[in-house]
Amino acid sequence: MMVTMDRKSTNMDLIVLGAGAGGMTAAAVAAAEGLKVLVLEKTAAVGGTTAISGGMIWAPNSHLTKAPDSLEKAKTYLDAAVPSDAGRSQRRTYLERAPEMIAYLEKNTSVKLQAVPIYPDYEVDAPGASTHGRVLEPVCFDARALGSAFRMVRPPLPEFTLFSGMMIARPDIVHFRNAFRSLPSSLRVARLMAEYIGQRLAGKHRGTTLVLGNALVARLLKSLLDRGVEIRCRCEVKNLVVSNNRVIGVRVTTEGGEQTIAARCGVVLATGGFSADIPLREAYLPPQARTLTATAGVGTGDGLRYGLSVGAQITPGPFGSAYWTPASHYRDTNDRHVVFPHTVTDRAKPGLIAVNRDGRRFTNEAVSYHQFVTAMLRENNVANAIPAHLICDKRFLWKYGLGAIRPMTLRLGRYKAAGYLKEAATLHGLADSLLIDARTFEATIDRYNGDAQVGKDTEFDRGGNVYQRFMGDAENFPNPCMAPIEAPPFYSIALYPADLGTATGLDSDDDAQVLNGTGQPIAGLYACGNDMNAIMQGAYPSPGTTIGPAMTYGYLAAMHAAHTDTN
Ligand SMILES: Cc1cc2nc3c(=O)[nH]c(=O)nc-3n(C[C@H](O)[C@H](O)[C@H](O)COP(=O)(O)OP(=O)(O)OC[C@H]3O[C@@H](n4cnc5c(N)ncnc54)[C@H](O)[C@@H]3O)c2cc1C
Repeated sequence: MMVTMDRKSTNMDLIVLGAGAGGMTAAAVAAAEGLKVLVLEKTAAVGGTTAISGGMIWAPNSHLTKAPDSLEKAKTYLDAAVPSDAGRSQRRTYLERAPEMIAYLEKNTSVKLQAVPIYPDYEVDAPGASTHGRVLEPVCFDARALGSAFRMVRPPLPEFTLFSGMMIARPDIVHFRNAFRSLPSSLRVARLMAEYIGQRLAGKHRGTTLVLGNALVARLLKSLLDRGVEIRCRCEVKNLVVSNNRVIGVRVTTEGGEQTIAARCGVVLATGGFSADIPLREAYLPPQARTLTATAGVGTGDGLRYGLSVGAQITPGPFGSAYWTPASHYRDTNDRHVVFPHTVTDRAKPGLIAVNRDGRRFTNEAVSYHQFVTAMLRENNVANAIPAHLICDKRFLWKYGLGAIRPMTLRLGRYKAAGYLKEAATLHGLADSLLIDARTFEATIDRYNGDAQVGKDTEFDRGGNVYQRFMGDAENFPNPCMAPIEAPPFYSIALYPADLGTATGLDSDDDAQVLNGTGQPIAGLYACGNDMNAIMQGAYPSPGTTIGPAMTYGYLAAMHAAHTDTN
């Protein structure tokens, strides 16, 4: 098809669709390489699901890593944790090029990362696994550096902020928990609160000390603004424009009508997958897990559809089409649908178990969130584990919180009224309210409590490896993941499978070029983030194995686009 550009058309080098980790990295790198870049974002804010995420990036052997590691060791790990030939070449490329991407961003952009001192791989007993140095996180960012553009950053989930807008870095969580027990913790909390109050008194709509995925997005945004990248929010792309078998631009709908924008080096699809698209969820996700997403709800499968419209292919990986987390949900007093992902806050802490509808435990509750849901889906073929029920006592709820209920919450009424939290004076009463067999349930608790006393889980070996103990409470003996459930009243909330993102996307090569039905690159078309078929093929081997590849393949797409002769 020959395309004649209309009078309103604009000429760019690279157009990026979607402003999440993948798209913004591609845009930042392309701009640093000298390209004229346009980012088109469908919503009013930048950041997508990345902005509400933990912002962890798995990147073994980067210059930030202090622990001894090697490329060979990391390859051994991925071969064991993702045992499939599918995507193997891209996983190798990822391991080889992610360190380069990290160093490049540090040198050429405002993205600054740091190694998390300890964060075990999820399959920590597999060969090549590591406990230290592979996981990076964004360095805390002062959003005042963005000026008025701070408002462009999608805010974090309210459930993960305090006082309507204060973000807490992971190491500070423990200080908040110990604020009334330790002087250094009280002082640290007092300082953080004073800073936050100062930021709000200065007129900011939320705290300006950003951490986690929000810091990553803000740092990427700063990088784009510093390089003069044009960002258009609330922008709808109608279709890709193709000429002589090459993607050469996009057609957008604007207030003044339709407009064609040319892209000399191509278009990057980075619209965040299909978590919020019902037809694609029905096509690719298991029936029991189609209803709930823990994402920002902005990935409507557009990137996949744009790609398919010009001949791209989708080949689901052998390990499934989503990154899973157990989630609880309810409507809050403002009628907001709260979906709380139970990733790291409660499941592995001592004094909690999960039971199925028979009142029995069905898995080790302290495994990774993806593994936990995999167990739920498996169990649901045997006994109904959807929903599963998290069970704890008063002591646990006060100390660790439960789902969206924070530690030390005095007033539980609104959670009970919303049907989110169930409370009973006895275990028998709790079983009755959950419609599960009380005798079986009490026997389950008896066995668990007996095991907890000696610190050895005879059923599922809870706390049996270093990842689980890391997620537990190091101050709890003899097992950081086990304590008796015995202090009434007793509580439960219901858990469902939800996704943190989708893994099935467009088939692409080692340069993030989208492939057609014969496995050939579609010239001028790239995909990254969850629009690209996951290099882990639906497995979730380590923290940061979605954002790490999103950024690495965003970087590779930009490098390929910038250094390929298009004349
Ligand atoms: C609570 C939570 C914690 C998580 N923590 C981590 C973590 O620590 N590490 C990790 O690796 N993963 C984590 N994940 C998963 C991770 O956040 C996502 O997989 C990742 O952010 C997806 O990045 P992306 O760039 O593909 O998409 P997104 O960040 O969702 O960005 C996509 C953007 O595209 C826009 N868009 C959509 N359609 C269009 C269109 N047609 N045109 C233009 N723009 C469009 C969207 O509005 C959005 O801004 C977490 C997820 C959740 C929910």
